[in-house]
Amino acid sequence: MPEQNPQVVLENRTNQPEKDLAKKRALLASTEMVPIQGTVDVEVPTPVLWEAFTHANWWPRWNKCFFWAHNRDLVLGKKLIWAFEPIRWWYLYKMFAIANIVELEKEKKVTWEVTALPGFYARHTYHMQDLGDGGTRFGSWEQAHGAQIRFPLTRKFWVAHFTFVKDRSLEGARSLESIYQREGKISKEKLPKRRYWLFWLTILILLLVLVAAGLAGWFYYSFLRPTEVSLAPGVEVVMGGGGNSLLVRDGQELMLLDTKFPPGSDWLQKRISKEIGAPVTIVVNTHYHYDHTQGNTNYPTAKIYAYKSVPELMRTYDGEWWHGHQSGIPTELVDGTKTIKVGAQDVVFTHPGPAHTHGDIYA
Ligand SMILES: [Zn+2]
Repeated sequence: MPEQNPQVVLENRTNQPEKDLAKKRALLASTEMVPIQGTVDVEVPTPVLWEAFTHANWWPRWNKCFFWAHNRDLVLGKKLIWAFEPIRWWYLYKMFAIANIVELEKEKKVTWEVTALPGFYARHTYHMQDLGDGGTRFGSWEQAHGAQIRFPLTRKFWVAHFTFVKDRSLEGARSLESIYQREGKISKEKLPKRRYWLFWLTILILLLVLVAAGLAGWFYYSFLRPTEVSLAPGVEVVMGGGGNSLLVRDGQELMLLDTKFPPGSDWLQKRISKEIGAPVTIVVNTHYHYDHTQGNTNYPTAKIYAYKSVPELMRTYDGEWWHGHQSGIPTELVDGTKTIKVGAQDVVFTHPGPAHTHGDIYA
């Protein structure tokens, strides 16, 4: 690739403010980064290439480093607003950018400076040179300095990014050349359309994933997350993960009222064996609903208490599940009021009549 004449960058025939020139001189004097530059010779007359090039909002149609660009035209002293494609297509970012157009010479060059990022100052020049035979030398030149260029990790990214921009830009000039050769002109209609539906679909999917994760988090926090409350020595409530559970311990006896359902029931069993270390000797079901009873089978040596109609309600409403988990069906049936011993503690079961179900007891 032919080397670009540095004069293209150094020359200054525009009326630039002194502060821009000072920044330019400081950058050119800086040794932090070798400019990333290249040129390509295309068989497109310079006025034609310039006319196509100057519509910034066409860039995404021919220059694959651009995702989107706002400006219809390049105007000296105005802001340029665009977004870059990622340096690898599978890096899921679009880099928004804003710059000041500081040099503009018709059919020769445009330069913008990026100052919006902290620790980063960059100048990017696209330049054209009329080769005099209906051809044009098109080039891209970029240099930056600042803390982001000195710090190795960000420097690595910026060098890769500038190289990506230069390579895609030169390829883009080649694609403009082939359009010109095929169509005899370069107009918006002749440039390939840039489609954004995949981008918006990705955004939509990410949003849906975020909403779903938020809902899942809320659901877990509100209904599944187990929390423990001590009511008295040896008496503890474990809320969440299914129906609320009550643990009563006295001596070698441990009563568990309502056993939750998987996976909360398995979590509860592990927690009991880890923190209490004693086997559950008595299981009580306040009613037949699965979220209070499906953990029954986790305690095969426990006696299971429930109101007398519970086994029948279980077989009627959740017959399939209980058919496969017969050992979890209560065998110690309560009719009216019953008092049992948990160690030395009296625990009284009472049937309130038809309430939450037709077979409730409370303890
Ligand atoms: Zn219920």
